[in-house]
Amino acid sequence: MMKQLRETIRENGVVGAGGAGFPAAVKLESSPDTVIMNAAECEPLLHKDVQLLSRYPSQVIEGFKQIIDITGARLGIIGLKEKHKKLLQQLKSFENDQIRIIPIGDFYPAGDEVTLVYLATGRLIQPGNLPLSVGCLVQNVETLYNIALKKPVVDKFITVGGAVDRPLTVRVPVGISYRDILQTFNITTANYVVISNGLMMGCLESDLDTVVTKRTGGIIVLPVDHACVQMYKRYETERQTIRLAKAACDQCNFCTEFCPRYLLGQPVRPETAMRNRMFSSGDEPAVALGNRFCCECNLCTLYACPEGLDPKGATVIEKRHLIQNNILWEGLPRQVHPMFDYRRVPTKKLMQRLDVLQYPDKGPLEDLSFTFRKVSIPLLQHAGAPAKPVVKEGETVQRYQLLAEAQGKISAPVHASISGTIAGVEHDKIVIEVK
Ligand code: SF4
Ligand code: SF4
Repeated sequence: MMKQLRETIRENGVVGAGGAGFPAAVKLESSPDTVIMNAAECEPLLHKDVQLLSRYPSQVIEGFKQIIDITGARLGIIGLKEKHKKLLQQLKSFENDQIRIIPIGDFYPAGDEVTLVYLATGRLIQPGNLPLSVGCLVQNVETLYNIALKKPVVDKFITVGGAVDRPLTVRVPVGISYRDILQTFNITTANYVVISNGLMMGCLESDLDTVVTKRTGGIIVLPVDHACVQMYKRYETERQTIRLAKAACDQCNFCTEFCPRYLLGQPVRPETAMRNRMFSSGDEPAVALGNRFCCECNLCTLYACPEGLDPKGATVIEKRHLIQNNILWEGLPRQVHPMFDYRRVPTKKLMQRLDVLQYPDKGPLEDLSFTFRKVSIPLLQHAGAPAKPVVKEGETVQRYQLLAEAQGKISAPVHASISGTIAGVEHDKIVIEVK
């Protein structure tokens, strides 16, 4: 029975919808004692997890119960911010011996797995380990909703926020372009750009034909001259990150002192990464081994650094080098920093620093319909190997029909998000035109 449930999840192409895209069925082969619902949405201006949980609590909890049953966990913990008082009250009816709710403070990055596991259970994940090493499995709200749906994953919930007159959370077909989505919104600035998946951990999109995948969490519209956009542009290349590290880092250490991974005992030291950029060339980069464990939350660059430098970029240069060359960190067990509780960055303060307090921090879920001619469905929307097409150009397909099958264990199938005609099967995507 449990095996069949896991197989259904695999066949439906359910992957981590919080951004990681790891195939859910593979994750569910483990045996944690505790599963944690990650509802600690912490990216400023994004609201889709909380909206989904408010609108479809029974379905999300059903998915949660299923993963408790599949893994044989003793306990399920819902990690939700304490500021969502109404929703906390609403979810109380689902609490029992097996399911508990842990209210979490409103700070960034509460949704980081290492942080969430510590807050929810008091267990500290050691450097380089997964939540499973402390008996935990973490799953995103939308992933649980998709598990409960028992249908192929063909839609995505995203928040559209920032410089729009009515920020909303909407359900869109996978493969729809940002351009087609934004046509339905009134944009309140003349020259705008878009940041995908959040101001902190997202990326600046140069092309509005970018499409929504199973991993997309939101679209933030900002004026082209907004401070956040300028910051993203300034550090678009590694060269710029290194050049400014050499020129201006005064080694004040603020970046490390605010780093959430450092505060949770991980050996991440962005100030060391900056120093290494000052004193090493690109060919032979000096690296601090612990920087492998940077979670790329961007707090050091967008919040901590008083000089407006890019310690995150410098740390990620080291992280990539360490992963590519399989260089491991070895050290003694770590402990939480005594200042962990006092150096959390409140979301409001972060929003002030990002200069986005003028945008409404809400995104109610509304059922909008969108006008579009085609969807382009990427074959790689997940961690692992891309899916392999099983359809041909000219074929007619129905919504939910299999388009490409998983290749190997760490992979996921993709399905048609609309009914229509296959207009192209390319190396990286399948295009369906509306009939
Ligand atoms: S906070 Fe900025 S200036 Fe200070 S050490 Fe870090 S990168 Fe350098
Ligand atoms: S991005 Fe910066 S603050 Fe975040 S984990 Fe990495 S080094 Fe630490």
